[in-house]
Amino acid sequence: MTRVVVVGAGMAGLAAALRLTQRGHDVTVLEAQDRVGGRVRSVTLSNGEVGELGGEWLRSDQRWVVALAEELGVAMSPVGVDFADRDLMGSPAIPTDEHRRVASLVTAAVESLSDSDRARLSVDELLAGLDDGSDAFTVLRQRLEGSAGVAAGSIAVGEIVGDFGIGEATYLRIDGGNDLLAQAVAGKLHDLRIGHPVERIETDDSGASVSTANVTLAADAVVVAVPLPIVSRLHFDPPLAPGMRAALKRLAMGTAAKLVAPTESPPPLLARQNDDATWWCWTGDGEEGRTRRVVTAFAGTQLAVDVVSGDWHRRLAAAVPEVLLGANSVFVDWGTEEWFGGCYSALAPGDEALLGVFQQEGSVVFAGEHTLGAGTIDGAIESGELAADRVERFLSQTAAPG
Ligand SMILES: Cc1cc2nc3c(=O)[nH]c(=O)nc-3n(C[C@H](O)[C@H](O)[C@H](O)COP(=O)(O)OP(=O)(O)OC[C@H]3O[C@@H](n4cnc5c(N)ncnc54)[C@H](O)[C@@H]3O)c2cc1C
Repeated sequence: MTRVVVVGAGMAGLAAALRLTQRGHDVTVLEAQDRVGGRVRSVTLSNGEVGELGGEWLRSDQRWVVALAEELGVAMSPVGVDFADRDLMGSPAIPTDEHRRVASLVTAAVESLSDSDRARLSVDELLAGLDDGSDAFTVLRQRLEGSAGVAAGSIAVGEIVGDFGIGEATYLRIDGGNDLLAQAVAGKLHDLRIGHPVERIETDDSGASVSTANVTLAADAVVVAVPLPIVSRLHFDPPLAPGMRAALKRLAMGTAAKLVAPTESPPPLLARQNDDATWWCWTGDGEEGRTRRVVTAFAGTQLAVDVVSGDWHRRLAAAVPEVLLGANSVFVDWGTEEWFGGCYSALAPGDEALLGVFQQEGSVVFAGEHTLGAGTIDGAIESGELAADRVERFLSQTAAPG
């Protein structure tokens, strides 16, 4: 039996580990933290509701996450709110048709560009000249910038392709919290070790070894499924190829923070965008159409995180005056989290070409949302599935004949 070590138990590492286990390999997963899920992190609030501090919005057309949830019998429910259909805080409601009009304007502009222009131009450049001053346009600009976690000048147009649909897919969340999907995968694994930060990965012709401060494991192949900034911190011997090191230096992570607040009673369904600092908030339904007693706020870009830090709870209360917030909100700034260093990868103009280097070096295969430039739970799972296929191919090529 071949031995595979998977580094990182986020959705990418877990998906890779699940597939390799199902195909009969001896898989060990080493996770730095004392929990699985990584950037999928659910929290139980003081009112008993579960909120999402990390990845939250799933879509019915995201095939990898939907298939995995179905396979494991993990239920999902519609949240009843559309991610893109937001009102501006303190302004009259924006009709959905107005959002659609602005979305088609921007879609047409994106579609008129060649692939190379989409890779080269920034969202800022794309939107210049299109902005007609409507509230829906303000929402769209703020949404794109906030969701990327970097300023519009640093987002490649290619990153936002397909990002405008309203009402085309249903938004979903895992019943009881998104981390239940991670836990369901973890339950299928035979050797998952939490509290095991990996420090070193060595490879030679006979295989690989993976070391934490206390343990060294031999392996035939390794899946490295840690966030982009953490790949740079790992010690590889021999060192990674120059192309990969250059990509690691250049590729950026966005910055984002979330605040999850309990409410006294079920709030109305809403999604509201702030129009100066890029933060927004929403409510949503849970299982059986029950409105969850939670208001969640998301600030994307360092600037927005700096603006809201300190008095976000007060700002949030002002943004949803019709809702009574409980006192114990929970805050996470992903830019300062030790094992992450940001919210998700953000491809700047010119970066797309670098993704190709992020796949495999001999017996070491890379996974994680950043390897596809995805920034989503669905993309993380897809990357894990692809990594499992690559490991299989590598092992079959190196297997001794007979
Ligand atoms: C605030 C926020 C909001 C988001 N919103 C959405 C959303 O609405 N919808 C959506 O689809 N996606 C969203 N995402 C993105 C989504 O959560 C991520 O793309 C996805 O979860 C990343 O999975 P991953 O497996 O690639 O990485 P991770 O989940 O980061 O997993 C990597 C794992 O590696 C571990 N690790 C790190 N270093 C080491 C080490 N040295 N040794 C061992 N283990 C290590 C980490 O602890 C972690 O568990 C959001 C993310 C954030 C932060």
